[in-house]
Amino acid sequence: MAKSKKHKDNILNNESLAFLKTYINNASPVGFETSGQKLWLEYLKPYIDDTYTDAYGTAVGIINPAHPFKVVIEAHADEISWFVNYISEQGFIYLKRNGGVDHQIAPAKRVWIHGKKGPVKAVFGWPAIHTRHNPDIKEPQPKPDNLFLDCGARSKKEVEELGIHVGVVVTYEEGFDELVNGYYIGRAFDNKIGGFMIAQVARLLKENNDKLPFGLYIVNAVQEEIGLRGAEMIARKIKPNVAIITDVTHDTQTPFINKNIEGDTACGKGPALTYGPAVQNNLLKLIQKVADKNKINVQLRATSRSTGTDTDSFAYANDGCPSALISIPLRYMHTTVEMLHKDDIINTVKLMHETIKTITPKTDFSYFS
Ligand SMILES: [Zn+2]
Repeated sequence: MAKSKKHKDNILNNESLAFLKTYINNASPVGFETSGQKLWLEYLKPYIDDTYTDAYGTAVGIINPAHPFKVVIEAHADEISWFVNYISEQGFIYLKRNGGVDHQIAPAKRVWIHGKKGPVKAVFGWPAIHTRHNPDIKEPQPKPDNLFLDCGARSKKEVEELGIHVGVVVTYEEGFDELVNGYYIGRAFDNKIGGFMIAQVARLLKENNDKLPFGLYIVNAVQEEIGLRGAEMIARKIKPNVAIITDVTHDTQTPFINKNIEGDTACGKGPALTYGPAVQNNLLKLIQKVADKNKINVQLRATSRSTGTDTDSFAYANDGCPSALISIPLRYMHTTVEMLHKDDIINTVKLMHETIKTITPKTDFSYFS
């Protein structure tokens, strides 16, 4: 027990936690991820040999860049957000979704409008309860076509003078916080926790002086939330031999969730491993063996046509790259209070780190051996 506690303290120490908070609190909307990518690369730099970025902003850190055998560990850097779509003459701002942002949670939220003169504060206005009492009229439900922002400007002209125009992005204001029993909450843990975890794997490799017999590509891909696009681009560029993707999955223990449909996954019970056609079975078996050997509890999930994650992009982008998905359970996905457990962060990092150390260029993933 003493040994695993030491491992724990090292993954979430003061320095890594400070990075996590900064990284979570920074906005990186789909298509506009660069400020987050810069923070991430700066944190990663001491632990890697080389780095590159692509045309759309995916960032890659590399250990052993000259090696022909390439292993990827990957997360996605983008967060769901809104686009400014229409500014009314009175200065109210209407929006379009940029990724699967949840309209039901929007009323009365505070936001940042990322205008060309810098961020502008605004709120999602909503009619007061007193003004919704007409029994003949059904209460309005928040929808993308009736939600609006109020930034205090009194006309379209005043909105524009603040640097706001059609096409700028909007993110919720809420950031990182802690609850009792080891829970963290924040906006966009989907999937900045993944970026944090793959960076921790790189740090552990460096600090433990682990020598790898291959090139390790630590990839923070853009544009996952609108169709796994960043991963699609970078998978073609890297052409990896193996890819291990990390993302969030639903904790299904909270009210309203039907386990018959969503499965049985819980925060605090360890990383979840996914079965599905895009997941290469022998890579999955290898990860399960590593979990057993290191006494890391894992949970199981099943998907059908698609994993809904960058795993699909890596599996299918080239001529078939053995790919697997290690997910961290998360409550309230795509809200501003996404919630996860610190033990799952530690155990997901540990599982990825130990898996990386097990793979060699000779590892045979064939279904026919
Ligand atoms: Zn998402």
